[in-house]
Amino acid sequence: MRGNRISLKTAFARQIRGMKIWHKQLPGRISAIVLSRLFTKGTPFVTVFLSARILNALVAGRESKEIWTLVGITLGVTCLLGALGACLNRWKSSQEEEIWYQTEKILDDKQASLDFVDADSQRIADLAAQIRQNHQWGGRGLRRVLSNLEDFTDAAVTALCGIALSAELFVLPVRDGKLSFLNHPLFVLLILGTMAASALLSGRFANFADGAWSGYAADARLGNRIFGAYGNFAKDHKRAMDIRIYRQDKITTHYMEQGDIFTEGSPIAVRYRGMVGLSYIAAEGMQAVMSGIIYLFVCLKAWAGAFPIGSATQYIGAVTGVFTGISGLIVCLETIRTNGEFLKDTYEFLDTPNSMYQGSLTTEKRSDRQYEVEFRDVSFQYPGSDNYALRHVSMKFRVGKRLAVVGRNGSGKTTFIKLLCRLYDPTEGQILLNGIDIRKYRYDDYMAIFSIVFQDFQLFAMPLGENVATSASYDRDRARDCLIKAGFGDRLKTVSLDTHLYKDLDKNGVDVSGGEAQKIAIARALYKDAPFIILDEPTAALDPVAEAEIYSKFNDIAGDKTAIYISHRLSSCKFCDEIAVFDGGSVVQQGTHEELVAEKGGKYYELWHAQAQYYAKEA
Ligand code: ADP
Repeated sequence: MRGNRISLKTAFARQIRGMKIWHKQLPGRISAIVLSRLFTKGTPFVTVFLSARILNALVAGRESKEIWTLVGITLGVTCLLGALGACLNRWKSSQEEEIWYQTEKILDDKQASLDFVDADSQRIADLAAQIRQNHQWGGRGLRRVLSNLEDFTDAAVTALCGIALSAELFVLPVRDGKLSFLNHPLFVLLILGTMAASALLSGRFANFADGAWSGYAADARLGNRIFGAYGNFAKDHKRAMDIRIYRQDKITTHYMEQGDIFTEGSPIAVRYRGMVGLSYIAAEGMQAVMSGIIYLFVCLKAWAGAFPIGSATQYIGAVTGVFTGISGLIVCLETIRTNGEFLKDTYEFLDTPNSMYQGSLTTEKRSDRQYEVEFRDVSFQYPGSDNYALRHVSMKFRVGKRLAVVGRNGSGKTTFIKLLCRLYDPTEGQILLNGIDIRKYRYDDYMAIFSIVFQDFQLFAMPLGENVATSASYDRDRARDCLIKAGFGDRLKTVSLDTHLYKDLDKNGVDVSGGEAQKIAIARALYKDAPFIILDEPTAALDPVAEAEIYSKFNDIAGDKTAIYISHRLSSCKFCDEIAVFDGGSVVQQGTHEELVAEKGGKYYELWHAQAQYYAKEA
């Protein structure tokens, strides 16, 4: 079950904030809901009012001219209101499809703009999963803000119209003396009290039933996550081979059934068969009984001569409206409150601050690419970790040169790159670009000077050219040129820039091998044409021939850019102007291959000989 109940004031504040978010995201949505519901719910009351006038005129035997005038007015007004309502509903419906997309967009835009340190954190991952779970489970969260507004408008319009058309019912005097008690203030109070009490109770029963569902959300989280992870498992063609060889369907089915939220015996199903089901019956039953009381009261008053029979139809419709409107409002207030509790997660996520976006300096767009980067005594701990991934790293890059970063696994190479391109900020020390702390630059401006091929790069199920340019409109010659430089030239004979990668969106899409994907990722880095190009293990997935090809052309590929190159294979670093050797988070050596290999007892010497020995043995 959810934790502390929030006050109605807090719930309303959250509902209103949600409405403001929607007003910004989908302009006109709030007005479309309020106006269309106002017409949809209000029009029947106008019709009932006018019909009652016609009936009364008929019963009173008025002239046919007067009756025809009334019929004409009724038809005209009903048609006009109906047409207006239909237009408004059309406006509202036309936006309906977009709501799903826009809800995701609000969350995705925030996710994409988060500081990397947050995007990479478990806290945010849990929060984002919880928000999606809230949406899936009973539609709680931002989307519900809109349906709450709809329900609230419906209930308020129904109750207000009902009150307007029924108020006089309670004061119109009866003519029949035997039924004069119908006018007695105490009797009127009794009727009003019964109506109010049943409206409240009926709302409470409905709330209880609804609360059981939303209260179960937190308990169902595990089950839903299991469903998210394994529900579509068998459809994933990338897993098709593993599924068959290892019969993974059996273990996933085991997990699916363990969650036990989709089966007949699940706790929620049991509750629906028990108290929840009874509450729904009680809520409906209450309404039926109340309808009976309303009919009785109105008909008795009509019988006692308080008003003509035509007005009776108006009062019955109107008092029923008051009753359903008030019980609807009770249900709605509760839904606003429950949803407010769920919105807490959404707002906590949306309010995650961007501390990396504080800088205001623009990076100079230097045509000479004379950028100089310096690490000044930089140390770094990953959030939540007690260990230093980097320790007292000081280093300057010479612009336009090729720097190789080598070291054993876990020595800090990737962390060094992540700090350089500001995915994280140093825990201690400074990184300077042209003498200025990189935190003082505009974040997106600073990011723009780097092209990186990470080891775990991702390509899209889009045409090849769009993958390279990361844009739907791009310079085709440049994209082709970058692919050729990255060693993809031969493959371009069989696929074009318009060929889709993978078959997700196009049945004629092509699957690419790991090596080909890596070449495309390198081409993408080249297309960005940033002053710094960083390749993290760029040839790990390439075959030896392709690897040799990339190395031999690396100078060409990097052109006038400053290139940083992380590699395990020391032989591939020989051509670099400078090599930085990482060990245990520190730079332990720096120099050219010749200088470093000559330092007997040094780390580079040790690594070089370990690998050379391996190759010799292999040969
Ligand atoms: P390399 O690239 O040289 O293999 P890394 O820079 O990836 O090394 O890792 C350096 C150290 O930081 C290792 O001890 C690693 O376990 C740790 N580390 C890397 N990423 C994280 C992370 N996201 N959270 C905590 N520790 C990490």
